[in-house]
Amino acid sequence: MSSECLFCRIVAGELPSTAVHETETTFAFRDLHPQAPTHILIVPRAHYTDAVDLAKNEPALLGDLTLAAGAVAEAEGLAESGYRLVFNTGADAGQTVFHVHLHLLGGAQLGHFGT
Ligand code: 5GP
Ligand code: ZN
Repeated sequence: MSSECLFCRIVAGELPSTAVHETETTFAFRDLHPQAPTHILIVPRAHYTDAVDLAKNEPALLGDLTLAAGAVAEAEGLAESGYRLVFNTGADAGQTVFHVHLHLLGGAQLGHFGT
């Protein structure tokens, strides 16, 4: 846990968030600036910089994040209609918080990603 890291502080309850799902290893909360009708961030409780850092050091946690995303999608009523899961990785992708987070976006027909 880093006192400098925004998402470590959210996981620790030091900063407020709207939590939607919690497990022993993961924490999911609503994005402050939603980019879709449903926009939820799923993070590991432990601090890793990005998806590759996580995969190198704790690969099972990637599975935990994906399973948590599936549970969130089910709870949000998105399991049938579908949803997008995204890891922004590094500056060109627009990663702004360097505690790995899986974006779950849904609730509308999403444009194809790219530019
Ligand atoms: P990134 O651009 O790093 O992939 O995504 C960071 C996400 O975190 C953005 O979608 C942004 O809206 C969200 N975010 C930034 N600060 C906060 C915060 O304090 N609380 C919540 N719930 N979301 C945040
Ligand atoms: Zn962190």
